[in-house]
Parts: sequence; structure tokens; C-alpha cells
Amino acid sequence: CGIVGYIGPKNALNVLMHGIKRLEYRGYDSSGIAFFENGSLRCEKAVGKIAMLEEKLSGNVCISHAGIVHTRWATHGTPTFENAHPHFDCHNEIAVVHNGIIENYDYLKLKLQQNGHTFRSQTDTEVLAHLIEEHYRDNLETAVMEALKKVEGTYGLAAISSKDPEKIVAARNGSPLILGIGDHEYFITSDVSASLEHTREVMYLDDNEIAILTPEGYKTKTIQNIPTYKKTEEVLWNI
Ligand code: GLU
Repeated sequence: CGIVGYIGPKNALNVLMHGIKRLEYRGYDSSGIAFFENGSLRCEKAVGKIAMLEEKLSGNVCISHAGIVHTRWATHGTPTFENAHPHFDCHNEIAVVHNGIIENYDYLKLKLQQNGHTFRSQTDTEVLAHLIEEHYRDNLETAVMEALKKVEGTYGLAAISSKDPEKIVAARNGSPLILGIGDHEYFITSDVSASLEHTREVMYLDDNEIAILTPEGYKTKTIQNIPTYKKTEEVLWNI
């Protein structure tokens, strides 16, 4: 239901939690966050209010510079801790947050289970994490592109991996995603209001488009790996 991703010099936890709270009005049943901490991936989830997630993060002393956060409005699987996003692959090396519905998820889940993948949730989203794992060769963006070729349905998604740290890969098909371009910092959000206090320069992703965010910059391309060169826009309204 709500997605915020951040990569940059600021304290990612503050930016992410602040941003996701701006999307609270949209309604949700649970929330969760994944971020890099000293090179490894850490995750926290909570059922109920975002304040519950904040409580779990309080006292965290490490500073993270990249992460993704999600508020869920359940479509497949009840609102439980296990079903809250982010969802992970078998080795907890790939974290995915997702808005939308994966239509062919039971077919994909069965195939993945036959290949030895163990599932922990009842969501359609979890197949994405396992599918990305299945297609992982050298980098996260290629794995995401290959995985999405198998997927039918709608998605706005963001993924991070400890195998390819300091990078966020996001993709859109039918669920809005906006790239925010700041001063040496980059955002991915499902609603522009989540990053507006940091930057007014944005790019609306199109269907079938992916974005790769690193501390050095961003790239966009189609899922078929054709670079897209779009102009950024300036948001003129205030929050
Ligand atoms: N279909 C996914 C789920 O039920 C995503 C729902 C959402 O957009 O929050 O977990």
C-alpha cells in the first residue's frame, strides 16, 4: 500500500520512517522495514500502527544509509507478522516490498517449491523474493528484470540485497512509483509526498520500467533492458 526507499548520506531510518508516516492516511494493517547495517541486511516488522515499528527500531545506534519500508494493505494472506513486508528469499539475502497483486503467484509458488524454495508467508509478494533469488547471477537489477519477465499482475516494488549492497532496485507495472532526485541522495516512493521535504525533483516511472539507485546516481530502463532517458519534473505544490 505504501513504499518508501532511500539511499544517501542521511540517517536512512529517520528518512524512511518519516516518509512512511506521511502515507499513513492511506490505511494499512502492518508495516516493515529492511536496511543495511554494517554491510548486512536487517529487518523489523510490526502488526498495527507504524508507532509499533518505530518502537522496535528505538535504541538503534547504528547509522544506515540505505533501506526500504512498507505499509501493507493485505490482499493475499491475513494481516499477520509473517505476512507483513519486506519478504525474503530462502537465505535472507534479498528483501522485497510490493504494492499490487501478483496474479500468477500460485503457479510461480508451486514451481519455486518444486525447485526447493521454502515459503514463510501466505502472500503473493513472497514469490517475488524467491524468483529474484532463482534468477540471481551477478547483480540485483538483472535478477529483478529476469524475475519480472515471469510475473503477471500489478506491482510497484523495491528490492535490496546483501549480495549487491548500497543499491535499491525498483520496478513498476500498474502501481505508481516515483523516483526522487536529491543532492547526492535518491528516493523511491509510491506517493510523491513521502519525499517532498527532501527534494522537488522527481521522475514518474512508467509501466514496465525499472530504476536502479546507488549513492552515485540512478539509471532507468525497461524490463527488457533498454535504457530510458526521461526528463525529471519539478513538483510545484506544497504538502
Ligand atoms: N498483495 C500484497 C499483499 O497482500 C501487497 C498488498 C499491498 O499493496 O499493500 O501483501
